[in-house]
Amino acid sequence: MTSRSEFVDDFSSRYDFADEFLVVCPKCTSKAKVVPSVPWISGNLHKVERKLVCSNCGYFDQKQPENGIMMHADKDWFFHQPLFYTIETSQGILYAYNDKHLDFLESFISAQLRSREVRDEGGWSNKSQISRLPKWVKLAKNRDLIINEIKKVRSRC
Ligand SMILES: [Zn+2]
Repeated sequence: MTSRSEFVDDFSSRYDFADEFLVVCPKCTSKAKVVPSVPWISGNLHKVERKLVCSNCGYFDQKQPENGIMMHADKDWFFHQPLFYTIETSQGILYAYNDKHLDFLESFISAQLRSREVRDEGGWSNKSQISRLPKWVKLAKNRDLIINEIKKVRSRC
């Protein structure tokens, strides 16, 4: 555990999306997956071996979790590969671990487009994820921009 600050506040929220990471393949730069080597059992984050597989080039690697898992925002937590869903905008960079996470971000951002009244407190299933989103993501003026970039990232798949 080299960086405690990476480890603290958002444990429970990021954990919800930690069963699968879509990463840039270290060999061919296509979309590769980091998934548990055995069926996912909630709560076994620290114990279960992970594999990195690329269906494009056949790259394969596997490893046991390290003692202190670095809960990166911009990389997977096991092989430390850059995330495939890296959404670069003129205002900042947003990251999604997997499709579920990307859907979650998109629905949050587009819901705000429909209603300016939606607030962090209002009925979202994953409040801590929302509360830790950078401010620029929540600004009304940036929403179209972000949604467009999310669409572009999706179409790269
Ligand atoms: Zn590959």
